[in-house]
Amino acid sequence: MSERLKAPKGTHDLLPPDSEKFAAVESRAREIFGSYGYAEIRTPIFESTELFARSVGETTDIVHKEMYTFTDRKGRSLTLRPENTAGVVRALVERGIQEMPKPIRLWYHGPQFRYEQPQAGRYREFRQIGVELLGVPSAEGDAEVLEMLFKFLRALGLTDLVAVLNCIPKGAARQAFSRAVFEHVRPHSARLGAEDRKRLEENPLRLFDSKDPELIRILGNAPKTLDFLDPASREHHDELKRLLPTGLVPFRESASVVRGLDYYTLTVFEVVSERLGAQNAILGGGRYDDLVADLGGPPTAAVGFAIGEDRLVEVMTTDARPERPVYFVVPDSRYDFAYALGVANEIRASLPDAVVETDFNGRGIVKGLSRAGTVATQPSKSAFRPKGVRAVLLGQKEREANTVTLKDLSTGAQQTVPRTALPEVLGAARER
Ligand code: AMP
Repeated sequence: MSERLKAPKGTHDLLPPDSEKFAAVESRAREIFGSYGYAEIRTPIFESTELFARSVGETTDIVHKEMYTFTDRKGRSLTLRPENTAGVVRALVERGIQEMPKPIRLWYHGPQFRYEQPQAGRYREFRQIGVELLGVPSAEGDAEVLEMLFKFLRALGLTDLVAVLNCIPKGAARQAFSRAVFEHVRPHSARLGAEDRKRLEENPLRLFDSKDPELIRILGNAPKTLDFLDPASREHHDELKRLLPTGLVPFRESASVVRGLDYYTLTVFEVVSERLGAQNAILGGGRYDDLVADLGGPPTAAVGFAIGEDRLVEVMTTDARPERPVYFVVPDSRYDFAYALGVANEIRASLPDAVVETDFNGRGIVKGLSRAGTVATQPSKSAFRPKGVRAVLLGQKEREANTVTLKDLSTGAQQTVPRTALPEVLGAARER
């Protein structure tokens, strides 16, 4: 036998029912984000490498050691996107963001790629669901995306989550903060690893991304972001804190949330879950008021977030899939196949949200029924979330009399009705 191929390290296939659970989460996102005016954007899976260097930042972990970068046949340097905000902003700038009516409200979902050491909740290909709001400089913009985010989380049954909020100074205040962090950590630099020493020299704010417990301890009493805010930034932050309770957004402040991407200014936030292990961040986001201009567009305020969809699905305890009536149409033998095809289509026409599967193995009613029985007894393993499982048994008797035999798998009740009465009988079954 030839050797079996495996999925690349750090990737995971989504087969039913998991794929359907992810799709259901994405449908909820479309529904809820759509109700706030956010429409979907899709950008390329790969972009020019320079885009990420200029946006996410040269000295971030993502750019400097986690990117899947390759040269194409014409020698262009391309990178599988490690995140989606840069691509969204690039696309908007390219299409003439200055002409677009503001605000611009967009959401996306799709795979992202980072060359990280795989472990529980950390993959090399993972999925994100994200939101971007452009053209709203005031705290109401931050409040809107956070409110919408929590509405989405609550809709998925996640009611115990809290946003951890911080505000990173911008402009000269950011320089001063960065300098102060540098001064605070420098006396301890001999105790740091090579990588953190490099961060200290090149971009002290990135020290907050370190996993080194010693450094985390040192940073515990480092200067605080909030002490460096200029008056306008402080007002922005205070206003956001006033608005969040109105939007039913539970939050607490933390000076250590600095986020591993350079483009954030002012508001940053994360949501973590105790139900995840070491990789406990479900999502991260914040304001990035300079990014559009950095990528060649006009100055445009912006705020957004990215949810790690794999982690989100992992912490969910409810099933987001819509409940659907399930029908197994079981022809007794191949002589009944044509009859079964017709009946299956009549059920689909009567119940548009039903799942109607036909068994074409012609192995008799009893064996045909076993599949339906499995779905009825183990609904969580089924691709769809069944709202009642019924079998439609069709043999010579039914075919000749133009009838159908319906069997309810949960009660075992069985009845034979004229085929012409199907819409009425199915309608009645649905009401139950
Ligand atoms: P970031 O784009 O780094 O702000 O990450 C936003 C969210 O994406 C995180 O909170 C995680 O939930 C998720 N995420 C980031 N990297 C990974 C990864 N390697 N595997 C799975 N999820 C990830």
